[in-house]
Amino acid sequence: MNAVRGAVNQQLTLNSPLPVEEELCHCNMCRYVTGGIGEAFVSLAQPPNKLEGLVKNEASNLIGRYFCGTYGAHRFANVYEADTCSADSGIIEEAEPGAGHKGKDIVKITRHAFIGDTGDWWNGWMAP
Ligand SMILES: [Zn+2]
Repeated sequence: MNAVRGAVNQQLTLNSPLPVEEELCHCNMCRYVTGGIGEAFVSLAQPPNKLEGLVKNEASNLIGRYFCGTYGAHRFANVYEADTCSADSGIIEEAEPGAGHKGKDIVKITRHAFIGDTGDWWNGWMAP
């Protein structure tokens, strides 16, 4: 898998076959960190092979987040207690470098999480 844009371009190995079935998380932290309506991660089989060019932020003692030092995009999350590392799905460009996927069939959103954190502005039209 090829993650692109910004100062860091690297190969990543996922834990699941493509397309990865993931949830779109609407928890407060995911919305605050991204500034968007939610965030979808893909679980990595191993941590990224290079962290140069990234800026680490520890908003809590539970998770470390890495951002592109050039463009500010959220790149990775490291959940310390579970010892897992995930990549923000928005940074994934190609499933196989040179294969021409260009963002297609990489992630399939199958559910939503923490809708209640959004207050009442999502209620009524989004199924949990
Ligand atoms: Zn979240």
